[in-house]
Amino acid sequence: MHPTTYNAKAYSAASATSPLASTKIKRRDPTDRDVQIEILFCGICHSDLHSVRNEWSEFMAATYPIVPGHEIVGRVTKVGSAVTKYKPGDLAAVGCMVDSDGTCPQCKAGLEQFCPNMILTFNSPDKHLGGVTYGGYSENIVVDEHFVLRVPSNLDPAGAAPLLCAGITTYSPMHHWGVTKGKKVGVVGLGGLGHMAVKFAHALGAHVVVFTTSPN
Ligand SMILES: [Zn+2]
Ligand SMILES: [Zn+2]
Repeated sequence: MHPTTYNAKAYSAASATSPLASTKIKRRDPTDRDVQIEILFCGICHSDLHSVRNEWSEFMAATYPIVPGHEIVGRVTKVGSAVTKYKPGDLAAVGCMVDSDGTCPQCKAGLEQFCPNMILTFNSPDKHLGGVTYGGYSENIVVDEHFVLRVPSNLDPAGAAPLLCAGITTYSPMHHWGVTKGKKVGVVGLGGLGHMAVKFAHALGAHVVVFTTSPN
């Protein structure tokens, strides 16, 4: 049975060559395990642009209309009856994924990002409503609480948004390789990810070197 829905404002692209335009999309009314979040800020990741322009058609073809956005920070507005970790008013975030099968070895190990049935935040099959998932270029989003992240209230919510993709993408290898004081980290390019890498590596105590082709 499909859950009931409501309309939300969003920005979508109708094709690989059309600009993003204001539109209305359907969101499901929060089910038992869902958290509804009013989106305050959403980062613009280059993956959003690749997807909108269908530049990844070989392995992740775009379904149009497409609503990108996967660096989402907002305020919880409603929670389902079974939600335990969030309540209305909480600052919360959603990153690259919104669901997984919950049963495979990766999911059991808490590594949902490696789940073969992981559902991305946008342009991924929507198990609830059919069609594809719609991302954060929208006024709100409804996500299973298992894929909602807490944002400390001392963080600037706009500045925190890029942590959800650019941040975790650069933090993950540093965590994997045990970056700490005494280690050296090289960062190729000081862009959306690169500046995050510099901040993390410096905060972890490493010696940081940036490689760039820019004369300045
Ligand atoms: Zn899984
Ligand atoms: Zn991204």
